[in-house]
Formats: sequence, C-alpha cells, structure tokens
Amino acid sequence: MPESKPKVVVVGAGVTGLTSGLLLLKNGYDVSIIAKHIPGDFELLSSKAGAQWSSHSGPDEFTFQEYDKPGYYEFLKLAREEPTSGIHEVLVDHYAHKDYVSAYKLPWFESYVPGFQKLDRSNFKFPSDDLVKGHRYKSVTITTPHYLAYLYAKVIEFGGTIKRARIDHINDANKYHHSGETPDLIINATALGARFLGGVNDLKMYPVKGHIVVVSNSCYNQKIVQPVPGSEVPGEAFYIMNRKEGGSIIGGCYHPVKIDEMDFKIDDKLTQRILTRAKKYAPELLDSKAFPENKPELDIVTVYVAYRPTREGGIRLEREGKIIHNYGAGGTGYQSSFGTAAGVLKLANEYIAKTKGSKL
Ligand SMILES: Cc1cc2nc3c(=O)[nH]c(=O)nc-3n(C[C@H](O)[C@H](O)[C@H](O)COP(=O)(O)OP(=O)(O)OC[C@H]3O[C@@H](n4cnc5c(N)ncnc54)[C@H](O)[C@@H]3O)c2cc1C
Repeated sequence: MPESKPKVVVVGAGVTGLTSGLLLLKNGYDVSIIAKHIPGDFELLSSKAGAQWSSHSGPDEFTFQEYDKPGYYEFLKLAREEPTSGIHEVLVDHYAHKDYVSAYKLPWFESYVPGFQKLDRSNFKFPSDDLVKGHRYKSVTITTPHYLAYLYAKVIEFGGTIKRARIDHINDANKYHHSGETPDLIINATALGARFLGGVNDLKMYPVKGHIVVVSNSCYNQKIVQPVPGSEVPGEAFYIMNRKEGGSIIGGCYHPVKIDEMDFKIDDKLTQRILTRAKKYAPELLDSKAFPENKPELDIVTVYVAYRPTREGGIRLEREGKIIHNYGAGGTGYQSSFGTAAGVLKLANEYIAKTKGSKL
C-alpha cells in the first residue's frame, strides 16, 4: 500500500463520474469530484434519463457488452437491498411490430439474464394486434434523480467531496483536490463537455435528441416497440417505464443532431404521437382498476427534450498520461456505469502501481 491514499480529481458529477468516483473511494483512493452540474440540478443530463438496463450492444460488440454486464446484477442488488436508491425490479416486454418482424433479432443478453422468455401470440396476450412477437426479461427502472442523490450521499459517506466548479482545460482539475495538493490522477467524465474542454476537444462527441413525457398514470411493466411503424419522422421509438414511486416515463425519439442545432423546444406533435402510442400499447394507463392513480386520460406531469452524449466509435475509456477518460456513453450511461467504473479502477491501479511502485 502507498503511504498515503492516491489522490484523484473526477471531473463530472453525472452517473459516470459519481459511479467511477465511488468505486475509487471504496478501493482506497482519496477522491474529489468537481462539476458544473451536480445532482439536484435539472440541467444535469443524467437526471433526465428513463432509465433502464437494456443493453443496446450488438452481437459482436464484446467490449461494450462487458461494460453493460456488471450493471445488470448491481442494479438488481440495489433494487432489492437499498430502498433509497430509487430503483425497482420490473419486467420488460420488447415487442416486434408486424411491419418490422424481419428485422427483429434476439439480443445478445438472451443467455446472460436469468428467466429470459421468448414471446409470441401462442403464449402471451399482446396489448395490440399489430405486435406479433418479442421477448421478456427481468430488469430495473431507475428513477434517475433519486439514484443520483443516492450516489451523491454515498460519495460523501465514503469520504469523498463534491464541489461545483467549471473548468476550461482538463489540466485545471489539478487545482481542485480537497487536500490542496496536486492529484495523482484526473478522471474525465465530462460527457458532451469533452467536446469543448481544453486539452480534450473531442470532436467525435455529438448529441442525440430524446423527447420525454412523464405522466402520473402507472403501467404494469416496461414496454418497448422499436422502431415505431408509421412514424412521421424516422428514429422514433415507443418505450414506457413504470417508476418505483408510481407514474410512468414515456419516450420518445433517437435523433442525432449537429452540435449547433441543439435546442430544447418541445415538439407538441411528437408529444401527441407519444401519448397516442402509450394509450395503444399500455392501455392499463387509463384504467383506475389497474392503479388507483390512473385517470381516464393521460395526466402529464412534465415534457422535456434531452440529449444523449454520444461518441462516434462508442465510449472512450482509456488512460492518457495521468488522465483517465470515461465518457461518450450515449443512451447507455446507466447500464454501462458499473462496467466503465471497473475499467477506470483497473487503469488507475495499473498507473499507481507503475508510478508509485505499489499496489492498492
Ligand atoms: C431521453 C434519454 C433516455 C435515456 N435512457 C437511458 C436508459 O434507459 N438507460 C441508460 O443506461 N442510459 C440512458 N440514457 C443515457 C444516460 O442518461 C447517459 O448516458 C448518462 O446520463 C451520461 O452520464 P454522464 O455522467 O457521462 O454525463 P452527464 O450526466 O452529462 O454528466 C457530465 C458531467 O460533466 C460536467 N462537466 C462537463 N463539462 C465540464 C466542465 N468543463 N467543467 C466542469 N464540469 C463539466 C457536467 O456538469 C456533468 O456534471 C438516456 C438519455 C436520455 C437523454
């Protein structure tokens, strides 16, 4: 063991920075997290996600599959053991529409998640006649603002610090360890900010638009229909997540945009299409016998636009000198958070062993 704990500054307090920071704290590092946006800020992108575990990795994307794998069991454990984490266990029904059935494929995690079940019309009552097959598995819904608050509290509990600060250059992070000393390592978890941050300026980062409607009506389980047939605009999907505290979060769309075309205006027509699909594919939303909070119409709590911090080529997880980069998770930042944090810890341990000649 080194004489004193290695010092780390994590830049970014979204799910990526908080999870990486917490894992480092639990493994003998002295961690300060700094960020422009911290849990509790509506502007923090991580607070706007659904969120679920439903790996998007392709059948041959083994590295990304490895990032997604640990999160599945970690989130189920949190759902079962940590009531303040804002996570609960749910079933996910993924449906193929009759117009897209030839494009439908079983996911790689068919053999990874327990109790994975194929669905077709012979064994399952579908919520609409135009859905013809699919699959079901156990997963989680994460109420993201609650989970971020949980992570925030854990970081403090394990001796870390969180401070609001915006830096212009990644090397400026050297000034922010709570001890006043220069850190041994910097973790860059700035997501879309990596595009603008001096010393990084990663032009592979781009935004992918999402459109969310939160309603007080509850549904039985998560449902996904992808892609949505007859969409006026390509890239629309239907997904609904039943949240632990009740109510549902419904999407949405997946529209890559240019960085200077980001806007947060609500598209009322898309909102209407989302609501129409919700009523069709989750009819229990309007049934007060299913849940007492359900009204005969959808009761909108909020509607917003948010951008997935996406990177050409996928997540950047690598060390560059004393900086470890962990950003670019796009639409998968929750499900990949435990896997990429484990990658950060491995890179940090190797670096400290090399530079300090000792193992943690
Ligand atoms: C509509 C929608 C639905 C989604 N659903 C899911 C889902 O179901 N499952 C899933 O796994 N993922 C989902 N995601 C994706 C997920 O939300 C993101 O991948 C994840 O939140 C990214 O986390 P992050 O910590 O990397 O980035 P962010 O949350 O953006 O955090 C970046 C941090 O860096 C800080 N920062 C940036 N630049 C600077 C700077 N110069 N100085 C100081 N601080 C800086 C920011 O202030 C912030 O604290 C969804 C996203 C959207 C938009």
